[in-house]
Amino acid sequence: MTSGTTVAEPVAITHATLLPGDLAGSVRPRTTVLVDAHGLISAVGPTDEIDVPPGTRTIDATHRFVLPGLINAHAHLFSDGRPLPAFLVSPRVERLALAFLHSALGRRYLRGRTKSAAITQMNTGVTTIRSVGDPGYEVVEVGGAIERGQYLGPRLIASGPLLAIPGGHGAPQIALTATDAESTRTNVRRNLQHGVKAIKISATAGVTDAKEIGYAGRPEMSEANMRIICHEAHEAGVLVAAHAQSGEGIVSALRAGVDTIEHGAELSDEAIALFQHNPESLRGFSALIPTLMACLPLVKLDRSITGANPVARANAEWVLDGMLRGIRQCLDNDIPLGMGTDSALTFVTHYNTWRELDFLIRYGGLSPARALHAATQGNAHILGIEQVTGAIEEGRAADLLITDADPLDDIRALARPSAVLVRGRVIDSPVVEEFPEIDRLLDDF
Ligand SMILES: [Zn+2]
Repeated sequence: MTSGTTVAEPVAITHATLLPGDLAGSVRPRTTVLVDAHGLISAVGPTDEIDVPPGTRTIDATHRFVLPGLINAHAHLFSDGRPLPAFLVSPRVERLALAFLHSALGRRYLRGRTKSAAITQMNTGVTTIRSVGDPGYEVVEVGGAIERGQYLGPRLIASGPLLAIPGGHGAPQIALTATDAESTRTNVRRNLQHGVKAIKISATAGVTDAKEIGYAGRPEMSEANMRIICHEAHEAGVLVAAHAQSGEGIVSALRAGVDTIEHGAELSDEAIALFQHNPESLRGFSALIPTLMACLPLVKLDRSITGANPVARANAEWVLDGMLRGIRQCLDNDIPLGMGTDSALTFVTHYNTWRELDFLIRYGGLSPARALHAATQGNAHILGIEQVTGAIEEGRAADLLITDADPLDDIRALARPSAVLVRGRVIDSPVVEEFPEIDRLLDDF
């Protein structure tokens, strides 16, 4: 993950109130951040002590706040978050849609959607996105184009299709499936050969697959096959994420060596111990990435709006309850806790990342500083990119966002950043297309 070959204009942000996104929630008033022509942070310190070199574009951030660009550790980029009309989600139409997405025209369509989704997230301050379940390799391709400097975009860590069992969560739309060890190995290798930088497993079923209450957490992939996947991915230096929505599914994924548990549930003592010290994981620990925004609408909104059947609704309540318990257990047991939005799911737009932080604070019990940490330094550490981005320190990529109000006072300050810097490139007053009908619903939660 280099900053590519593009050369940026050197930038100085002066007189800023710096929020570094550390666990302590520190605040550094009257700070200057210097960004060099390679898009890297070259100095950070008190405005009075830092000389701005001649020829540097200066942004006076008096009364403004500068923080690390947000990292979205759980995203999908294939759709924009608006609900699909009911007639489009019948099994027959799904089969046609699947055939289309794997045609040449479909792949071009997906690349276009992916690019616009990534740029929308960037324009709301998300400078790094990990995708965890894509129809094909379109996120790999778009990420490559951004790395080569073909257009400005966030850093993309793409998973490609997730790995599941036949008929399992995400199959067949966004998954490669297998049951035996050899095909499982073939699938993970296929993703790695396509250049993915993340691997995603469906360890359990999900809310939308629900056939009865509790079904969402039903274990799907065997621990032995998850172990094969972790081994292959870790050999390539790639971290593994697992969709897991029950205590049982979480323990088996952690034992297999999974590095991040997505969504989560109430944790057993064994799970807590494995998060803290996981000998099979790539770096000796595992982390939780909750995704409240994907779940809350199904619980909070009337079924006439969500279109969910009563079983899916009951499962969503069950999953949300477990997810909230899991979050509290992470806070109580010093388990790394990240932030992901599950963007592209219904009601999860690409510009609403701030809402996930808001929900983590109001529903999950995180302090605003803890939520900001999860979305910045915490996620950087969890995704293994802390040497590259996620903090405002010399040598890191200048992935930054500037807000007019203090997000530690009101997290909604993140909703419309006054500027975003991506690898040192400044985007002034970024704008995005919004869907007011969705925001009106979410504002009531
Ligand atoms: Zn997801």
